[in-house]
Amino acid sequence: MMEKMVSDKQKDSAARPLVRIAVDMDEVIADYFGEQVSRYESWSGVAVDIAATEGKRLREWVPPEHREFVSSLPRTPGFFAELRMIEGSRDALELLSRYSRIYIVTAATEYPNSLREKFDWLAANFPFINWRQIVLCGDKSIIRAEYMIDDNIHHLRQFEGEKILFDSPHNRKVPDDVHRVIDWKEVLDFFRARGVLPA
Ligand SMILES: [Mg+2]
Repeated sequence: MMEKMVSDKQKDSAARPLVRIAVDMDEVIADYFGEQVSRYESWSGVAVDIAATEGKRLREWVPPEHREFVSSLPRTPGFFAELRMIEGSRDALELLSRYSRIYIVTAATEYPNSLREKFDWLAANFPFINWRQIVLCGDKSIIRAEYMIDDNIHHLRQFEGEKILFDSPHNRKVPDDVHRVIDWKEVLDFFRARGVLPA
């Protein structure tokens, strides 16, 4: 009886396609903001008050004469290669990979220099993500999946599946009409509640 139950369950999960989760890179698995702040602080000598930046991108918060420097950062060779991982992201994606199909979806073509760096960064930090699961794109409105995790509300608004807003200082003023998570632990809780992960 037990064997039969197991085999029915296996059959069921084999027949049901895995849900697809589109996962952003910057500010979701890669600490773009942290690197931006640390490079800006060393260049300008200004200490960034993170709470004061809420609702703004760093380039909007700094004085006008510093904006060009901040805008130049993502075009600077090595910038994307040096980003730290967002805490908990690797273990969470490794777990989610067992129960869903993860796609890393990043609007990267605005900065052509970032393409190689992002690809190599993923290989070094997320070795269980293979090349078929990496989407380096320009416009995320072409993406179809069941879920999207992103810190950018514009990408989420264009997405037809279920939207998960990953908290970041710049999006703190976004209205609460999308599901906000503050960290990867909350992402896992969300997918447990949806039945994607076992309870
Ligand atoms: Mg992002």
